[in-house]
Parts: sequence; structure tokens; C-alpha cells
Amino acid sequence: MFKTLLATIALLTALGIHADSSPKSCHHRTFDATLWVQSSVEWRAHCHQTYNLAQAALKKRLRDPQWTAAIEQYADQERGEKTPAIIVDIDETVLDNSPYQARLVLKNESYKSKTWDIWVHQEAAYPVPGSLPFLTKAAQMGIEIFYVTNREARLEESTRKNLEKYGFPLSKSMDTVLMKNEKKDWLSDKGSRRAMIAKTHRILMLIGDDYGDFCSGAKTDKVTREESSRSYQQNWGQGWFILPNPTYGSWKDAIVNFDRSLSPELKAIMEREAFDPRLP
Ligand SMILES: [Mg+2]
Repeated sequence: MFKTLLATIALLTALGIHADSSPKSCHHRTFDATLWVQSSVEWRAHCHQTYNLAQAALKKRLRDPQWTAAIEQYADQERGEKTPAIIVDIDETVLDNSPYQARLVLKNESYKSKTWDIWVHQEAAYPVPGSLPFLTKAAQMGIEIFYVTNREARLEESTRKNLEKYGFPLSKSMDTVLMKNEKKDWLSDKGSRRAMIAKTHRILMLIGDDYGDFCSGAKTDKVTREESSRSYQQNWGQGWFILPNPTYGSWKDAIVNFDRSLSPELKAIMEREAFDPRLP
């Protein structure tokens, strides 16, 4: 046990990670969330549950030529003629970046594009449990898999290599890894990319860990999100399949109205105000 601990410390030191064991590090903003993802059977169970449900629904969705999971395709009368496809997000949907989050906790740092890019270029993210067998089977059924990610376009090569390393299905005839800002209108709202795929494919399922992986307008305040999500309650587990991500996402940014100019102190106050302690 002690030997293992020493070996871990030596490895962290070699990676330039000097674990901060002070109470400050223990109170890192994502300490518990990251610990849950990396240590619990429960997180893995959530992931398998999602992909098992998607697997169970797949044949039915494939056989129904009128079925589509994408709002952007609801009005498309020609969808029954199109090649079937599944759209998946990448981060925390098919690739597990919790080691990056663990580094941030251990170094008592917060997300920065510089450290994120280093992590992505290491191509070291694991497959999210259940994602690889599900997508492999879907591809074998003739379904095209599109990866719609908000990783920046500059990270496409490393992202592809990380996916290829584990054998995730990737088309050889067209670009199915669609990065943010790869084209002019491919913004963080993924609606334009879903609409583009819908022109040529019937979208059987959407799989992601963030509300924005399913519909446009996720980048808005908490109350507006809650209102819009009420009209989509029937979509979950039908054509929309969601993975758990307690560490980051638009859910957290919505609490501070996506305002990056706010000070950490003000953000913390707004987050505390979002709690509901049911005071009399
Ligand atoms: Mg994601």
C-alpha cells in the first residue's frame, strides 16, 4: 500500500504534478465531482445504463423511416430516404477526460486552454464505459457516426488519433469529426452542425453530456433553460441519451449567465444563491 503511494507520488512528480495536499486542494471546486467520476461504480453504471438503453432502442429507430431525434429535422419530409446516422458529442460522452480534471484538482488549478491543449495532444483520454461497443455495433448496422464536438478545430488531428487508438468508427470517405470553428458557422451552439448533417442523413439518436448536445439555446440563464427543457421531457431515453457530467458544462455556466467577465468571488456568490435550502 505504502509502496503504491510512493510510486504514485513519483509518477506525479515525473509528470510535473506536485500534489497539493493542503485543505485548499481538498476544497477544489471539482474535488468531489472528479472523485465520483474516477472512483465510483455508480458513474460507470450511469454510462452503461445510457448506452444499454440506446442499444435497446436502436433497431426500432432504424426501422421507422419517419423517426428523427433532431429538432432540426422535424420538418424534413424526405428524411425517410436518407442514410441513418447517430450524432455523438466527444468529451465525457465517448472520451473520458477525468484524468485532466484530476490533474487540475491535484495541482489546485482551474481549466485553461493551454493545459487542456496539452492534455488533448497526449491523446490519452479513455473511452467512456459502454460507448465503444455501442458505436461499433451501430456502425456495423450501416449507421454513420458523426462526432460533433466543441473541441477547437486546431485539435482535430489529436482528437482523431485518440478515437482511432481505441477503434471508434470513423468514416474514410467523409469528415465525420466536426469541430467547433472548423467552418465559419460552426459555433459552440451545435444546431448549425446538426442541421448540416440532417441535409444528408436521418438522425436516429443524439448522445451527449450537455443540454447543448441536444438542442440550440442551451447557453442561456438557468430559468430559461429549465423552461425550454420542460417541452423536451419526452425526448429523453427515446432519441436523446444523456451521460452524467458533474464536473463542468453549460449547467454550471448558466448559473452565472455565461458571463466570463465576472470575478471568481461574484461567481461564487451567484452559485451559492442557486442553492435551494427550503428555508421557511
Ligand atoms: Mg461533452
